[in-house]
Amino acid sequence: MKNRNILISGASIAGPALAYWLSRHGFNPTVVERAPALRDGGYAVDFRGASMQALERMGLLGEVRRAQTHMGAVTFVNGDNKPVASLPSEFMSGEVEILRGDLARILYEASRQGTEYLFGDSITSLTQDEQGVRVTFQHAPPRTFALVVGADGLHSNVRALAFGDESRFVHDLGYYVSIFTAPNLLNLDYAGRFYTEPGRTVGVYSARQNTESKVMLVFASPPLKYDRHDSARQKQLLANAFAGTGWETSRILEAMWDTPDFYFDSISQVRMDSWSNGRTVLLGDAAYCASPLSGMGTGMAVVGAYVLAGELAAAAGDHRTAFARYEEQMRSYVQQCQKQGQDGGDFFVPQSRAMIWFRNQLYRSMSWVPWKGLIARMAMRAGNAISLKEYPA
Ligand SMILES: Cc1cc2nc3c(=O)[nH]c(=O)nc-3n(C[C@H](O)[C@H](O)[C@H](O)COP(=O)(O)OP(=O)(O)OC[C@H]3O[C@@H](n4cnc5c(N)ncnc54)[C@H](O)[C@@H]3O)c2cc1C
Repeated sequence: MKNRNILISGASIAGPALAYWLSRHGFNPTVVERAPALRDGGYAVDFRGASMQALERMGLLGEVRRAQTHMGAVTFVNGDNKPVASLPSEFMSGEVEILRGDLARILYEASRQGTEYLFGDSITSLTQDEQGVRVTFQHAPPRTFALVVGADGLHSNVRALAFGDESRFVHDLGYYVSIFTAPNLLNLDYAGRFYTEPGRTVGVYSARQNTESKVMLVFASPPLKYDRHDSARQKQLLANAFAGTGWETSRILEAMWDTPDFYFDSISQVRMDSWSNGRTVLLGDAAYCASPLSGMGTGMAVVGAYVLAGELAAAAGDHRTAFARYEEQMRSYVQQCQKQGQDGGDFFVPQSRAMIWFRNQLYRSMSWVPWKGLIARMAMRAGNAISLKEYPA
């Protein structure tokens, strides 16, 4: 087996999932993560179709099921908290739904034994030749790896170093999203409530057996200039964007200032003609972010990790063959998942009262019993747009 020593940048979902499979296939993965420790937080993420199979092959489906959210239907309300529409859980929660932070923890624990983790560090340069990739870090001494994988998200550092500026690959869909943990302010019982005004949606789900809630704020906006590492400034941006919004928004915004975790980003897609360049390759959001509106990002990360590691093993470590096959396997699946994310904003954050009314009518009709099966099948289509090969570990 060639190219055993592999560096992965990013320890969220894609990175640890890949590390798990690489070590099962006999490689030596190292993961470098910029945050000082595993990052908690995030909303619920779900699995459907091929990604369920990937979890099962990892032997983690049982554990994921034990941690699932058991979320019921999501209700859309008006400013007086009166229901105006609802969406069945089959549509929102896939086959199994889990908090992002819980999933990251499960993948980290499962991969830990066969992986070297370096927290609180980041790659500063990559220089590749026929033998390998010379890597320098912010803190650790320089090292040479056979291959480098960028699993470092929408604003990937590896992508910037090995492929070029993100403006070439990141396509802004016209919205910003924030997710944070708050007390269960609305006393929700395994349920979610969403409120929309033109261009702004506020969503709250109860979480962790109703002991807390996860808040999601989404607003339409042209691209904004802000420091991605300055949470205080991002909170101020949100407070401005949601000032004067009705329903429970002011109470929810108050809770934002004291949240233990805070996520803020543009809603964007990553589109690239190729996911590899020599000995570097991209995985998950770094390569093919579909946007949180697609509901497919986490599934794609887990499937992509399975395929990339499997193809490397099948090619006995030959990266040229493996990277080409990884792209071949994943391309059409990624395209279908991205398609699901492209128009989500029109439904999630309609920009006029007429569009909100239309959206609510549509969602009301979706709860009718004969439609339910159809909705579930529609949601499954993209999730099943790949058939996973067997890669004996
Ligand atoms: C804290 C957090 C909360 C999230 N919440 C949600 C959510 O509620 N809903 C949703 O749909 N999606 C959410 N996402 C995104 C979601 O996890 C991804 O869309 C999907 O799971 C694919 O995961 P990924 O591992 O490819 O990328 P990501 O989950 O984005 O992970 C990228 C990882 O790379 C790390 N990283 C970034 N730059 C560097 C660097 N220079 N060096 C080393 N490491 C670096 C990041 O800290 C992060 O851990 C969240 C991501 C994070 C990090």
